[in-house]
Amino acid sequence: MELTTEISVSKISRSKIHEVDFTNLEFGKYTSDHMLVCDFAAGEWQTPHILPFANLSLSPTALALHYGQTVFEGMKAFRMTDGRTNIFRMEKHYQRMTKSLDRMCMAVVPKEIFEEGLRALVAIDRSWVPDQPGSALYLRPFEFATENRFGVKVSEEYRFVIFTGPVGNLYTRRIKVKAETQYIRAAKGGTGFTKCGGNYGGAFYATQQARKEGYDQVLWTDARDNRFIEESGMMNVMFVIDGILITPPVSETTLDGVTRDSLLTLAGEMGIQTEIRRISTDEIENAFRQNTITEAFGVGTAAVVLPMGVIGINGIDHQLPEYNSSSVQNKLKSKLDLIRSGEAEDIYGWNDII
Ligand SMILES: *Cc1c(COP(=O)(O)O)cnc(C)c1O
Repeated sequence: MELTTEISVSKISRSKIHEVDFTNLEFGKYTSDHMLVCDFAAGEWQTPHILPFANLSLSPTALALHYGQTVFEGMKAFRMTDGRTNIFRMEKHYQRMTKSLDRMCMAVVPKEIFEEGLRALVAIDRSWVPDQPGSALYLRPFEFATENRFGVKVSEEYRFVIFTGPVGNLYTRRIKVKAETQYIRAAKGGTGFTKCGGNYGGAFYATQQARKEGYDQVLWTDARDNRFIEESGMMNVMFVIDGILITPPVSETTLDGVTRDSLLTLAGEMGIQTEIRRISTDEIENAFRQNTITEAFGVGTAAVVLPMGVIGINGIDHQLPEYNSSSVQNKLKSKLDLIRSGEAEDIYGWNDII
C-alpha cells in the first residue's frame, strides 16, 4: 500500500516489550512502544508524527478538560495463522468516528491520516501483536479539543492520537447484568450513538450502583419508557429466544457496533434466523417463564462475545442455561475468529493486511 500521507517517524531507542508478560495480558494495562499524534490548527491538519509512547503536555485551559469534546474508537489488529497481521474493519470504524466527531462539532480527521496512521503504527509495533488465541493488539484512535480558552465554546484546535496495546481475553466467566430502570444512558436527540467521552462518564454511577448489588453491568433500557433493551456497557446485546437470534435495532440512542454488524452478517450467511427489532424486559421475563430463552450475550470489540449468566429484572434474577460449543454465540464467535486468523476466506474484505 502506497502512503499518500507524509508521516514523520521517531523511533524509541529501547523497546519496553520485555517488561510485558504476554501469557497474562490484563486488558488495558500495557501500551506498545509508539503512538501517533496529529494536530489540527489554523483550520488545517498538520503532519502526523509517530513518536515513542509518552505523556502529552496540555494547558489546564485545554477545552476538552472542561467541556468534554472528546471522541474515541476501539479496534483491534490480529496475528494471522500464517504470521501476517491484519487490522479489522478500519473503514467501518472510520465512518463511525466521523459521525461521532460531527455530532460533537469537532474537526473530522481525514481518512488517510486515520487509516495510514493505523497501518504505519501497527507496522512499526508489529512485534507487539500477540499470537495466543483470543489475544490481539487493541487500537485506540481518539481526538480531543486542545484550544486554550476557559470560556465555553467550540474548540478551533484538536489533537488526534492513536496508541495501541496488547490485550488477552477480557472475561472468561459469564456476567450478571441488571436491567436498569432508574438511570438512563441516552435519550432521543442526544449523543448515545457516538463514542464521546461523556457517555461513559455519565454511565459510571448506574454501573457502580449495580456492582454494589452484585451485578457486573447494567442492561440499559430506553429513556422514555424504561422498557426496551438498548445495550450494555461497551457492548450491543443479543438474545436467543425460540432459537431465533434477536437484537435491538441501532438508533440515535445506541451505538452502531462493528462487532454486532459483523456477527449479524455471519448469522445470515450461516442460516441462523435473525430478528432485528425492539425487545422489552416483559418479553424477556416471559421467555424465562416459558423457558424459551436459551442465550443472552454482549457483543463488542473488547470481548467479541461476552456471555451473560444472569439477567436481573425488577429485583428478580433470572438464570440462563449453560452454553456449549453449539450455542449460537460460540458458533458466531468461532466463525469470526476464523476470518480474522485467515483460516476462513475473508469474503467481505474485513481484514486490512499490513
Ligand atoms: C464501542 C461500543 C459498543 C460496541 O461497538 P464495537 O464496534 O462492536 O466495539 C457498543 N456500545 C457502546 C456504548 C460502545 O461504546
